[in-house]
Amino acid sequence: MMALSQMSREQLEQEKAQLEKRYHAFQSRGLKLDMSRGKPGNDQLDLSNGMLEVLTADDYKAENGLDCRNYGNSDGLPEMRKIFADLLEIDPDEVIVGGNSSLTMMFDNIASNMTHGVRDGKPWGRQGEVKFLCPVPGYDRHFAICEYFHIKMINVPLHSDGPDMDMVERLVSSDPLIKGIWCVPKYSNPDGVVYSDETVRRFAHLKPAADDFRIYWDNAYMIHHLGEEPAKILNLLTECEKAGNPNMPLIFTSFSKVSFSGAAVAAMAASKSNIDYIKKRLTVQAIGPDKLNQLRHVRFFKDANGVRAHMKKHAAILRPKFAAVLDKLDEELTPYSVATWEKPTGGYFVSVNVAEGTAKRVVQLCKEAGVVLTGAGATYPYGKDPLDRNIRLAPTYPPLEEVKEAIELFCICTKLAAVEKMLE
Ligand code: PLP
Repeated sequence: MMALSQMSREQLEQEKAQLEKRYHAFQSRGLKLDMSRGKPGNDQLDLSNGMLEVLTADDYKAENGLDCRNYGNSDGLPEMRKIFADLLEIDPDEVIVGGNSSLTMMFDNIASNMTHGVRDGKPWGRQGEVKFLCPVPGYDRHFAICEYFHIKMINVPLHSDGPDMDMVERLVSSDPLIKGIWCVPKYSNPDGVVYSDETVRRFAHLKPAADDFRIYWDNAYMIHHLGEEPAKILNLLTECEKAGNPNMPLIFTSFSKVSFSGAAVAAMAASKSNIDYIKKRLTVQAIGPDKLNQLRHVRFFKDANGVRAHMKKHAAILRPKFAAVLDKLDEELTPYSVATWEKPTGGYFVSVNVAEGTAKRVVQLCKEAGVVLTGAGATYPYGKDPLDRNIRLAPTYPPLEEVKEAIELFCICTKLAAVEKMLE
């Protein structure tokens, strides 16, 4: 096999015919596979089934004597706050445990800033066209929140050690309408990038033109390691304190891919003074979160080490699926020099850059042969990938055999779309 760029027109025609043959063979099998969303597989969910039975009729009190069946305690059970604090390596006073979704907490924080301003400052919604920086490729639901609130999004390239910090520093320090940046600092969605220490320090030392600028640090995959060596990132909260910017970061995380997606527990962390401010809003919103669910999580995991041990079981299930994807990409696409991808050491995705101008076509070809992928463009603000080349693969949900079939088809479609383009 040789790189596509070195093939003559005739060789490309032959290649196309062979790829079409393989493609039609797939099509005739009537597959119905889905690699579109980062959901845990059923065997991963089974790992937490014990949680459904862990509480008994006489076990409903938290360690401070609080009756979890009743209203109260708006910032979460102390023992649940401690588990999150230990995992995030911060103080329990800097944590609020919320409901079932960290995305809700992010949405709510932005909604609050739009209508009430950051810590009673001028509401973002009355300052003109406010903007967010969006490292790309990124998480579609972050971008959806911005679109919902009519916040203008500005793309910032994401490198293998984090966002382009020269660009971030330049923009943040010069434009007072830039109010935030989305970051997934560990095993980013979708590239699996881990921010370097230098990147975290540069974030902490930002000098925003807006005094109501916030870093939205979505540490969704903080403990979702695939390999033996967990990646470590610097603690942004501590770095920001050292840099004299204690209130700039807002950190989010959840157990959505630790216990049950959609029925887990989420948390937010920030400076004590930010937390006190946010708690005031929480007490207006609800008389308290679902403390029984928090208690179930506490009883099941016991402590942060219990959570870490549980995550090793997830990794054991996920490792073969990621290996199947990466091995196949390497086998089929490397000799063609037709695509590039990161090799994630954690998180939920493999992000592939196919030949420019072909991502939409690849997704369409896969769909017509029975494999649904995340829509092309979804990893960019407004669904617009300027080079039409990034595709997010989500290998966690389907069983291993299905992942193997889906990735083979993906490779065929990637090559076929590239050959078609070259023959145009
Ligand atoms: N943040 C990131 C980066 C994610 O990838 C996801 C889910 O895929 C979420 C947040 C969703 O978190 P939650 O279920 O806590 O709302």
